[in-house]
Amino acid sequence: MNIVCKSRGSGRVLAFVFIASVIWLLFDIAALRISIDEANQDLKEREIVLKQGRRKDNVEDVLKHPLQKVNIDKRDFLQNSNRFERKVDQVYRKWPKARPENQSKVNLNVNGTIISIPEKINETKAVIYGKVSNITANMNKIKAAVSGQTEANLHVKAHLLTKALPAVQEKAHPSVLKEKSVKKVHHINDTLAMSQNEVRVDVGLQKNLSNELLKPAERDKPKNILDHAVKHVSAINKTKPDIIQKLSELKDPAEEALQVLHSTSVQVRRSGGHHKVMALDVTDRPRDPSAVGQFGQPASVPRDKELESRRRWSEGFFNVFLSEQIPIDRAIPDTRPRICSENLVHDDLPSTSVIFCFVDEVWSTLLRSVHSVLNRSPPHLLKEIILVDDCSTKDYLKEQLDVYMSQFPKVRIIRLKERQGLIRARIAGASAATGEVLTFLDSHVECNVGWLEPLLERIYLDRKKVVCPVIEVISDKDMSYMLVDNFQRGIFRWPLVFGWSALPQEYIRKNQVKDSDPIRCPVMAGGLFSMDKSYFYELGAYDPGLDVWGGENMEISFKIWMCGGEIEIIPCSRVGHIFRGDNPYKFPKNRVKTVERNLARVAEVWLDDYKELFYGHGYHHLLDKSVTEIGNLTEQIELRKKLECKSFKWYLENVYPDLDAPLVKAEGLIFNVGTRKCLVFLNDVLLFDKCEHTNKSQHFSYTWLRMLRQNTSCFAPQEKQIIMEPCDSTKPHLRWMHKSKGLVSTAQNLFSRDSTIDRFINEWWDRKY
Ligand code: UDP
Ligand code: MN
Repeated sequence: MNIVCKSRGSGRVLAFVFIASVIWLLFDIAALRISIDEANQDLKEREIVLKQGRRKDNVEDVLKHPLQKVNIDKRDFLQNSNRFERKVDQVYRKWPKARPENQSKVNLNVNGTIISIPEKINETKAVIYGKVSNITANMNKIKAAVSGQTEANLHVKAHLLTKALPAVQEKAHPSVLKEKSVKKVHHINDTLAMSQNEVRVDVGLQKNLSNELLKPAERDKPKNILDHAVKHVSAINKTKPDIIQKLSELKDPAEEALQVLHSTSVQVRRSGGHHKVMALDVTDRPRDPSAVGQFGQPASVPRDKELESRRRWSEGFFNVFLSEQIPIDRAIPDTRPRICSENLVHDDLPSTSVIFCFVDEVWSTLLRSVHSVLNRSPPHLLKEIILVDDCSTKDYLKEQLDVYMSQFPKVRIIRLKERQGLIRARIAGASAATGEVLTFLDSHVECNVGWLEPLLERIYLDRKKVVCPVIEVISDKDMSYMLVDNFQRGIFRWPLVFGWSALPQEYIRKNQVKDSDPIRCPVMAGGLFSMDKSYFYELGAYDPGLDVWGGENMEISFKIWMCGGEIEIIPCSRVGHIFRGDNPYKFPKNRVKTVERNLARVAEVWLDDYKELFYGHGYHHLLDKSVTEIGNLTEQIELRKKLECKSFKWYLENVYPDLDAPLVKAEGLIFNVGTRKCLVFLNDVLLFDKCEHTNKSQHFSYTWLRMLRQNTSCFAPQEKQIIMEPCDSTKPHLRWMHKSKGLVSTAQNLFSRDSTIDRFINEWWDRKY
């Protein structure tokens, strides 16, 4: 290919023949940064992206499931299996195989010793699991447990006393963990021979609570139970009247509830005391150890049901048949790092609204998600559960769901009249929320024991922390609950593809990172997180211009970091999620286009000059505004200004320094191996001259958008010459391919079709002018 240039001195047009190739000499970075492979890299990347994954056309999704594919290292899992089994054993071994004959008791299981307290009895049964450090806490725990269970049962049985919990719970953790009590407690612990400070409380509650509780007098029920517990402890150790006294000072929970309801959360949050994280697991019926999938064990499909199971797969793109067999309140192994159950959290954590958005979710998984929240969240911290139905088409998600959920006063259902997509559905959910913290969850999850408090604790410490649980894997095939590797960070690669990456061992060693330490993440996965509600609004919620699904995790992540917040994964909080191979719902428009468009909005608003890296890694076509309409960005740009958010450069330097993000693909001198001279752009003229590294007019860059640029001028083909034109990222004729044998102007969108590209490149190459 000939390039016609003007030569200095003569002023005439000289033709230089590129005999072999144009080589990029990168004097200042001392490396040859372009090769044919590299030049085609983005093409390939996009190709790979498009071919990979089960959602073939879903670019953003590619790295969204590496927990299954990459991070669940089978060997590691096996190595951990002892620990895993130990944990399972630790948690579940003490469960009674069958319900005790005599149910007229409240059972306190103290480190294996079951102590029964006379109580009118129950067919419903609760299991509350926890570890506490001293008897004061134990008693608080018992009380909390009793209160919590009462509420859980009330949820099921009567619709009363829901509001009683904040008060009950506030009292449940009075700031009494003082020196004196602690000492006494140890004594009591000794008396009870509590080797590990562990208390499990099995609480039986009355079967027919429902009717009776409708009577005001029955509001005393929780207190009655407490009284029994108190009496019981009193009987165990008569030497501790002061502790007993404290507990018996409690008022009627319903009365307290009203008081709390009328006070603001700020008023409530005063105690400053701490308690050990609670690991509640409350059920309203006995758990059957032999039930399918119990304890998160893998389930298998009976031979004669295989066909049915296969047929029903597409209802949710996981094993819907098995999911239906598994109890909706099944137990799952406590996969938290050991230390987590010992961690202290504040007594006065903020309450949260849990928001599940769903569209055409499978019945059993939706219910299991809701039950896992109801059963494993301290009731006083769970303000409500909001189910946002994003205009599902399934009948069972209408009246049947209303009826089912009417058992639980804390559950509210919001129905969107039109399909809004996840992003706007979340905004709708948030606007209905009354809790102090918003917790967003997917509608096919199982929250593990102790999942909530560690999240709320971080927000309590700093309202600008946005926190995510560790997302564990519920197998889409056998529905087993699987442990994931520690130290995983949420990251992205170009073009804004979400992924997971482990903290380097070296870093962990050097910084003595513990497996329970919060991990700061450049971006969040997006499905599951908690965030202070006022902070969510301060940041302008989500960009409502994002459609359906995808890219919103990038948007909120950049926004959080660049506008003063932080994102953390909290290893002590764990929630299982079914990673599905496909969506059981339709995208109103083409899915790829939707995600790409969303990402383009994010790039335009948040990436500054780095948006070239986004477009240049496979998204050139989005620059063609006649094809991609990304909508109006004025409000988002204004918001960024108003919030005085930092630059993307700051984000890269401070939050994600390990991301490779040079602003251009290559830069340096353009060397003609034939003449041994370098290209110069001077006084609007291109020419070859002696190479001078320090000469600025010899410096060019090859941008991610494939432009050959000096300042604001770019190479452009003009007949048989190359001239310089003002750069314009939307103009395809300014794009050049670097081949080992020279430069090829593309002059059209490179990503139309491979064959077109080849033909096109050859065409230019063959012209040989
Ligand atoms: N969702 C929704 N509306 C939509 C798309 C998704 O409410 O238009 C819900 C969906 O039911 C799920 C959550 O958003 O509860 C996240 O979607 P999904 O699980 O498909 O995302 P993934 O986990 O695959 O990232
Ligand atoms: Mn999901």
